[in-house]
This record gives sequence, C-alpha cells and structure tokens, in this order.
Amino acid sequence: MIKSLESRSVIVTGGSKGIGRGIARGFGAAASRVLVVSRHLDQARAVADEIVAAGGTAAGFAADVSTPEGNAAMVERAVELYGTLDILCANAGIYPAAAIEEMTVEDFDKVMNTNLRSTFLSTAAAVKAMKGKGRGRIIITSSTTGPITGYPGWAHYGASKAGQLGFMRTAAVELARYGITVNAVIPGPIMTDGLAELPQAFLDKIAAAVPLKRFGGVDEVANGVLFLASDEAAYVTGHALSVDGGMTLPEFEMALDDTASLT
Ligand code: NAP
Repeated sequence: MIKSLESRSVIVTGGSKGIGRGIARGFGAAASRVLVVSRHLDQARAVADEIVAAGGTAAGFAADVSTPEGNAAMVERAVELYGTLDILCANAGIYPAAAIEEMTVEDFDKVMNTNLRSTFLSTAAAVKAMKGKGRGRIIITSSTTGPITGYPGWAHYGASKAGQLGFMRTAAVELARYGITVNAVIPGPIMTDGLAELPQAFLDKIAAAVPLKRFGGVDEVANGVLFLASDEAAYVTGHALSVDGGMTLPEFEMALDDTASLT
C-alpha cells in the first residue's frame, strides 16, 4: 500500500464500473477518502458501499461530467464531505463504434463531450479546489486507441483520447505553478464487464496479439493511477503511462511469432 495516499480526498469519475471501479477500490484500499461519480447514483453508491464494506471511506454521487454544472457539483460534494480535494481521476468515457461514413454529428459530439470536454471541465472544476494548497494530482484515463493506434469504428473515440493527451501536456505546464501534476494512463486491452461479454474467439485473438498474452486487470490500471497520485510521483508531470502488456510494441505481427524461434 502507498502510505502517502492515506486520507487523501479523491474523485473518480466513471467510478461505478470497469476501470473506474478498479481505481476507486484501489484508493479505498489505500485508505484514501473516495467520491465515486457516475450518472447513475445507485451504481455509484454500490461501488462506494463495496469500499466501505472493505473498511474504507467512500460515497457515491450522480453527475454528468460532460456538463459544467455536473463537475462543479461533484467537486463541491467532495469538499463538503472530506474538507478538501487532493486527487482527480478523470476516467469517465464511452466508446460506441460507428464507421466514419455513417457517423452523425451527434455521434461525434457525444463521444467528444463525454471523453474530452469532460476532461477539460473536470480539471477546471478540480483546480478551483486544489490551487490554494500548493499540491494536487490529476490523472486522466486515455487509451492506446487514438494516441498510438487506430481501430475501425473508433475515429471519434480515438480523436477524443488523443485530444486528452494534448490537453494534459499544456495543463501540466500551466498548473505546475500551483504544485498540481497532470498525468495520464494509457490502458491497453483491460478485462471489463462490457468486454467479457464479447465472443471468446475474439477475446483470444486480442490476447494473442499482446506480448504478455493476456488482458490486463482493472486493478493493474489502478496501480498505475495510484502511483501517479502518490507523493512518490511528485516530480512526474505531463507523462502518459502505458498499461498495455506491451501491446503497442511489436514492429510487425510476426515479431510475436518469431520470439518462439529464440528459445
Ligand atoms: P465502462 O465500464 O463502460 O464504465 C464507464 C464509466 O463512465 C461508468 O461508470 C459510467 O457510468 C461513466 N460515465 C459514462 N458517461 C458519463 C458521463 N457523461 N458522466 C459521468 N459518468 C459517465 O468503461 P471502461 O471500459 O471502464 O472505460 C473507462 C475509461 O477507460 C474510459 O475513459 C475508456 O476510454 C478507458 N479505456 C478503457 C479500456 C478498456 O479496455 N476497457 C481501454 C483503454 C481505455 P454511468 O453510465 O452511470 O454514467
């Protein structure tokens, strides 16, 4: 356990499911005080209840992070509950697929608003609560899709995830004067509820394309986020940490097969 996270006040957006749930539980286990945010209060509360049942401190809150009001309200709630805000995990995101030829302006805007506009709005709201304290941590959940790779159907998603890293770099420079660091995690294929429902043959193909030959766990993304949120990472800012089992490394697919000939 990272001792410096004890009692820290943390917001995890998109904390009710998948990677966000893993991050929220990770902070709970590190004795941080967690506000789990999603649009559905019952689901956010369910994760907060899990954390409390495991001996941690947490509450659920309903907010739409694509709106200024939602972000202001969630930060206000964290400060009301825990007296301060130390860490923001801007993790909420959606990834509906649509071919470019069929993609509507509404499809594009919805993904950009939920993934990228929210990153700006959550950061701006958090900075208001953090800036007088001389320290703060913002960790953004990006993706390999967009910053590094492409995948058919995800042009809007990839643009939003690459945009998050562009936002992060300037935010890191701009907010350094307040002692606030801004970093990102770049998850590769992570086993979440949504993915677990896909056909096994498809999942096997993905795992085979990863040098470590498996999907990552949400707790493994959380471990990266916890490090970036800790005092130990005080001199790390503007960095994007890949948690992808080496997925983006092979030069060609045959590089994966050719490792067999080396043994
Ligand atoms: P998920 O299981 O579908 O969970 C998404 C979370 O975001 C839910 O808690 C959802 O709750 C919340 N959310 C969605 N829209 C919201 C909004 N407007 N306001 C507030 N909360 C909202 O997704 P996931 O797979 O864990 O993905 C989480 C993040 O990781 C995303 O940013 C995604 O791009 C990134 N990522 C995932 C993978 C992967 O393999 N799964 C890989 C790379 C990157 P409500 O619906 O209740 O609002």
